[in-house]
Amino acid sequence: MLRSLSVRTRIVFAVIVLIIFIHASLSYTSTTYNSMTSIPNLVQSIREKDWHVDKVPDQYYLGDVTDPWLKEPRANATLVMLARNKDVKGAVESIRHLEDRFNHRRGYPWIFLNDEPFDENFKTRVKLMTKSEVKFGVIPKEQWRQPSWINETRAEEGRKKLKAYGFVPYADSVPYRNMCRYNSGYFFRHELLRPYKWYWRVEPNIDYTCDIQFDPFNYMQEHKKTYGFTISMVEYIETIPTLWDTTKEFIRLHPEYIAKDNAMKFISDDGGDSFNKCHFWSNFEIADLDFWRSPAYMAFFEYLESKGGFYYERWGDAPVHSLAAALFLPRDQLHFFAPIGYEHNPHNHCPTKSSGFEENHCQCGPEHSFDERPESCLGKFMETVGALDMGKGW
Ligand code: GDP
Ligand code: MN
Repeated sequence: MLRSLSVRTRIVFAVIVLIIFIHASLSYTSTTYNSMTSIPNLVQSIREKDWHVDKVPDQYYLGDVTDPWLKEPRANATLVMLARNKDVKGAVESIRHLEDRFNHRRGYPWIFLNDEPFDENFKTRVKLMTKSEVKFGVIPKEQWRQPSWINETRAEEGRKKLKAYGFVPYADSVPYRNMCRYNSGYFFRHELLRPYKWYWRVEPNIDYTCDIQFDPFNYMQEHKKTYGFTISMVEYIETIPTLWDTTKEFIRLHPEYIAKDNAMKFISDDGGDSFNKCHFWSNFEIADLDFWRSPAYMAFFEYLESKGGFYYERWGDAPVHSLAAALFLPRDQLHFFAPIGYEHNPHNHCPTKSSGFEENHCQCGPEHSFDERPESCLGKFMETVGALDMGKGW
């Protein structure tokens, strides 16, 4: 028994040696053979095999979820994102999240705006994320650049002063100021947005953390809302030292634009004397474009623009939009979208159990919701509008 095994072992050994010998001599004498069988090339050919896997046969595809909701009429609305070519990764991620949580069932179109033409890489990758219509627009230079009438010496002083505080984001950035001014006064005039009444602002690198099982545009329309938000907070006052006084001057000049049942209480704790820094965080906005196009807002923007504060200070589109919405609209036209889980680093709004945390399959942690933080202005908003609006928030 032992003997016969050992003979077998010897034969096996001899065969192995023979194979190694043949392999070695072929490798040495034939370059084709050598390149076919070297380790990196073997790995390569395995990978290539993977690349050429058969397509999954059609019968295994699940197809679109058949959902009667798809048949609900869509509002005259668009999703809109301002981005740079270098934002492509964050843009694609944001689109993916919103498509997965909402838009794959609704098919609202996307508009992308940039101060430079979008490159092919951006366009191709963005289009892979959605079945919706996608449009790419360029911003006219004169709506983006610092206007020539701005006193650059004064603007530079303003930037240095803000930088010296040491804690103000984008303190000395001119492009950031261009962006804030554009979002304050121009995006709604872009030719691609002209056909639409409603928009949903989306930024690169944001996340939608819950299913959105209702159509916010239709909600706004049916409930006669004009401006919708998810996060509100206090502003860095250093960026807007004269914005409130400028706004008060405007009010004195144009008392006719102030809405009767406005939300002054949200932005001022002393009846309009001083600004309490509360504003809606405008990186999320679902709103009526016609509000920005209205005589009241256009006059307000032109007045602000004439003061140069977008460049001499660093007026943000968030406080500018918020002051206008709080003053020129009846407060019941402002809406807090409680069930929309939304995250823009470093803050997030996470729905509570009563506003749909469970039925919307939220991935956020309610204990981390910005709503609970002292810098949140949600409590003040609720005091202002009355809690009537609450319930599930849709
Ligand atoms: P933050 O949210 O205040 O930190 O500012 P972001 O950097 O997110 O900018 C706000 C929005 O403007 C985002 O959608 C950006 O992609 C966009 N943005 C900012 N700066 C520029 C710029 O110079 N060019 C373009 N095209 N978009 C910009
Ligand atoms: Mn942002």
